[in-house]
Amino acid sequence: MPLVDMKDMLQHAYRHGYAVGAFDFVSLDFLEGIMMAAENARAPVILNLVESHFSSTDIELLIPAVEAAAARALVPVAIHLDHSASIDNAVKAINRSCNGVKVDAAHMDFTENTQLTKTMVETAHACGVAVEGELGCVPGADGENAERHPGDITYTSLAEAKAYVERTGVDFLAIAIGTMHGDVKGKPKLDYQRLKQINEKLAIPLVIHGGTGLSDDQYRRLIANGVAKINYFTALSKVAVKKIKENTRADNGCAYTGLLKDINHAVAAEVERCMRMWGSAGRAAEVLAQCDSWAPVEHLVMFNIEGMDKAGADILMAEGQRVLSAIPGVREVFSGEAIQDNAKYHYTWLVRFCHSKLVDSYQQHPAYAAFNTKLLRTVSDKRVTIDFQTMQARTASAVPGIQQAQA
Ligand SMILES: [Zn+2]
Repeated sequence: MPLVDMKDMLQHAYRHGYAVGAFDFVSLDFLEGIMMAAENARAPVILNLVESHFSSTDIELLIPAVEAAAARALVPVAIHLDHSASIDNAVKAINRSCNGVKVDAAHMDFTENTQLTKTMVETAHACGVAVEGELGCVPGADGENAERHPGDITYTSLAEAKAYVERTGVDFLAIAIGTMHGDVKGKPKLDYQRLKQINEKLAIPLVIHGGTGLSDDQYRRLIANGVAKINYFTALSKVAVKKIKENTRADNGCAYTGLLKDINHAVAAEVERCMRMWGSAGRAAEVLAQCDSWAPVEHLVMFNIEGMDKAGADILMAEGQRVLSAIPGVREVFSGEAIQDNAKYHYTWLVRFCHSKLVDSYQQHPAYAAFNTKLLRTVSDKRVTIDFQTMQARTASAVPGIQQAQA
């Protein structure tokens, strides 16, 4: 199963002293390039979805492509929503296969950042989704991303980091120790002493934003001091632009598809270089073997409605669909009634949760609890519920006595 629990994936990297790349994708060319590199290097990979990259792109169209890329991958994949503008947007992403989220709160003061992040953690953890917190400010340098990260660097405070992690319950922490978003001029000076102290105090995977432009030695020292996730985009943007310029010269800029030719290969080469440098290359098999897979669960509820006419039952079913659909982590809800008049159960909801954790937690959601107590239970006290997960694919020839069907 190629989608794996992001917390498991980064814990593995943290324990084994390597870093997983979280590569931003802004188009199908980037998505293809990142996945080509991961397959080639046999590396776990995080597909990093940054909200602000998509101001002119319909994310509802894009995410199915990301899910499809992960579903057909042979290497472990996690999907992360980065720099989300709100918890609502993060919930939408969770409902669409993201299994890691980070809400933008580092620009707020400590108390506000802690409160917002804590709420994000409560919501995401109820869905089994990991949360990245951020403390300190990683500003934007020239070029790509700069305008989205105004201000000067604020180094992560060692004193605040421990309290922040304890109060919020975040799974990973992004820290500011000298890197910058965007196209950095010269070699950034990194505060390794601060990093070392934060790592010793927290002992959770640390995250670097603004991963572009560091030397091999700088990456090595970051990883040796607890950095298990590196966000990386500006360099990918630059190799894509370079390729477009080459294509323009070769093609006289006449054909749009000609301009975009081989961007996927240019992106793949840079991503693979990072995977080999950061030690994630060759780790795919052990991550797949040791980390939980990430798969939606189908939750089937069958019941009868008594003491209510057909019009009332229709309203109750519609209300149930509305309440269930609004619970974070619910991907979709099918409401149905039996075709046969003599069916043992006449009504059903087939609820698709993003993760099996929801099976235990959705009934505690206040909206559902109120609907269940005040409405549903008064007309339907007996219900059958069954939860289904996707079966692992096996070939018939692997089972004694079953012959593979001949074409
Ligand atoms: Zn960032």
